[in-house]
Amino acid sequence: MLLNPKILDVIACPICKGKLHYDKQGQVLICKFHKLSFPIKNGVPIMQIQQAKSLFINSTNLVEKH
Ligand SMILES: [Zn+2]
Repeated sequence: MLLNPKILDVIACPICKGKLHYDKQGQVLICKFHKLSFPIKNGVPIMQIQQAKSLFINSTNLVEKH
């Protein structure tokens, strides 16, 4: 179930109240300021800091050295 794009207009980061970026591939909402990703379950964003994951871990994994 995909997220309703209109929800991005009303939803914000619970920490900084900033706009969130919708990652369609990962099905998460990302606060670029905090580098946090919030999960989306059944089309409903879970805006809890306890559920958020840091993007720092993911980004270091993506940088592969050959
Ligand atoms: Zn934030």
